[in-house]
Formats: sequence, structure tokens, C-alpha cells
Amino acid sequence: MKLFRFIRDLLRSYDQNKELLKNMERLDLMKELQRKDVCVSCDMATIYDKTTHISQRSHYVEGAGQLCKECFNKIYNIKETTYEI
Ligand SMILES: [Zn+2]
Repeated sequence: MKLFRFIRDLLRSYDQNKELLKNMERLDLMKELQRKDVCVSCDMATIYDKTTHISQRSHYVEGAGQLCKECFNKIYNIKETTYEI
């Protein structure tokens, strides 16, 4: 009986820790996403931090803002894939 309770408690704490870890990972991901500049066309987070200078970015359109690779290629009708720096 004691062993059963011990195992049950162990499993319970394991589940709680797993949940906690999952939440922490989610929080880290959210923080990471908040640091990213979003595409002015589709609102998706791009790979560039808001603090990255525009000279160090690809798909940035002066006067418009940051585009993601997909929107940039669609808008400028580029068939081949452009690289991201
Ligand atoms: Zn986009």
C-alpha cells in the first residue's frame, strides 16, 4: 500500500513538473515571439528581432516595413526563393 502511494505521488509530481515545464516553454516562446518584428502584410512574426537594423534584414521595404519571405515573394512576384540574412 505504501509503495503504491509512493509511486502514485511520484507520478503525480512528474505530471505536475511536466505541465510546469510545458508552460515555461510556452512562456519562453511567447517572449521570443514578442521580440520579433511582424510582417506588415500577414501579421506573422518574422525571423528578425525588432532591434535588428534594417541594413541587416532581408525583405524590408522602406516606407512600408518588414515583410516575411512569403509575402515579399508574392508581392514582388518572385518565383525563386530569396535567402534570408
Ligand atoms: Zn507575411
